[in-house]
Amino acid sequence: MPKPLGKIRPHFTQNEQLLFELSRPGKTGYQLPELDVPDVDAAEALGAGNVREAIEDFPEVSEVEVIRHFTRLSTWNYGIDLGLFPLGSCTMKYNPRINEAVARIAGLAWAHPYQPESLSQGAMEIMAVLEHHLGDIFGMDEVTLQPAAGAHGEYTGIMLVRAYLESQGNPRKKVLCPDSAHGTNPATAMIAGYQVETLKSNGQGMIDPAVLAAAVNEDVAAMMITNPNTVGVFEENIVQIAGILHAKGAQVYMDGANLNALVGVARPGDFGVDVLHSNLHKTFSTPHGGGGPGAGAVGVKSHLAPFLPGPRLKKTDGQWTWNHDLPQSIGRVRAYYGNFGVLVRALAYIMAHGGPGLKTATIDALLNANYIRARLKDYFQIAYDAPSMHECVFEDTKQEKQGARTGDIAKRLIDYGFHPYTVSFPMIVHGAMMIEPTETEPKAELDAFCDAMIAIAKEVEAEPEMVKHAPHLTRTSRVDEVSAARKPVVRWKP
Ligand SMILES: *Cc1c(COP(=O)(O)O)cnc(C)c1O
Repeated sequence: MPKPLGKIRPHFTQNEQLLFELSRPGKTGYQLPELDVPDVDAAEALGAGNVREAIEDFPEVSEVEVIRHFTRLSTWNYGIDLGLFPLGSCTMKYNPRINEAVARIAGLAWAHPYQPESLSQGAMEIMAVLEHHLGDIFGMDEVTLQPAAGAHGEYTGIMLVRAYLESQGNPRKKVLCPDSAHGTNPATAMIAGYQVETLKSNGQGMIDPAVLAAAVNEDVAAMMITNPNTVGVFEENIVQIAGILHAKGAQVYMDGANLNALVGVARPGDFGVDVLHSNLHKTFSTPHGGGGPGAGAVGVKSHLAPFLPGPRLKKTDGQWTWNHDLPQSIGRVRAYYGNFGVLVRALAYIMAHGGPGLKTATIDALLNANYIRARLKDYFQIAYDAPSMHECVFEDTKQEKQGARTGDIAKRLIDYGFHPYTVSFPMIVHGAMMIEPTETEPKAELDAFCDAMIAIAKEVEAEPEMVKHAPHLTRTSRVDEVSAARKPVVRWKP
């Protein structure tokens, strides 16, 4: 990159300073009106323990400096509103603005969880309708909206399995996970007090019923299955798999984080699933990334319903009430009733699409993933030779010969103006490149992405060093990711 002459304004390079560096003594970003009440000593009035001491080196900046600082930082973000976000397993779809409009309706945005039930009837109706629609989409009998994320939904679901088996006399010892499982699955099972046994997938990236049959015994509490699985393939033997587990009294848990490939087309409850979670912040289109908020709704078959977290919605004489009288419930898993704003958005999304619209979205998501697969398969090695569902997974074997790995190709994508795909997951794929376009991408955007990927594949052949040292057009190039994770510097003055 040619260097400009002279001093560059931070504004233009976006080489933004820290607020601490912008600080000048005596500057403030606020003005308070004249005091019109008697002046009292805060420590005396509030108690010394409640008064904060002055913070050393607290930045002193004006209002305009604060606004510009954060506005500049905001332009460093890549988001779904800027372009394709092909992060596999994350379902980064465009979030329709109708969701936001509905969530901002004053009566919903300002509702307080401690409002009396008589003043919360609308909010409670929204939750009841959402539970009903999700139950319908999942093919499950009852739904809880309490869990705050996918992993939290998994934990809730496995606790339900444990409570149910305990009520039968034995919580059992083990949870089975395929080797393609999302890392949260084994983590959930461990936190819920189970040992994890990993099952090797077959050559198509699927669970092998024979391997499963050999592993299931009376010690197995459940198997956690992602379907379509993390290699983007539908577990074709799911009915047989559920049969094998049920025959030994084990439960079928489905990780439905990626329900984007099923909604309106197939229902987990119909293929033998006892309990599943679904990420409303993925399939049901609420903004996510950056840590939340999310919602991991959990659906169950009726035999698990008595154990659901409380309180539960109940309608008596046309009025919604919260039922706390749930003797077998595992108890609350979250304060209040879940991330209500996320629930409103999910319901707005479902109702804006309607049944046929949701089905069309699913089919378009599959079409888009298979389009990318078809355009890239001559340039990148496809991981499993089975039709893709909502995402397609490649290996970096061809590029590795030139020394460029999945992470290098992902970094080069940044130079082409795209957010990278999911790198190195699932772990059973050699140098995985996991791409999930979702249904919201127009063909032109898919083509621009494929063109960039093909251009990079050609660069790997002609100029591998270019790719191996990418990105070249960003503010910083490669950072020391290991140190950043292990020894993060989060203080201004270490
Ligand atoms: C995203 C995802 C999760 C975890 O969801 P969070 O909301 O991030 O906790 C679990 N399983 C799969 C398959 C996922 O894609």
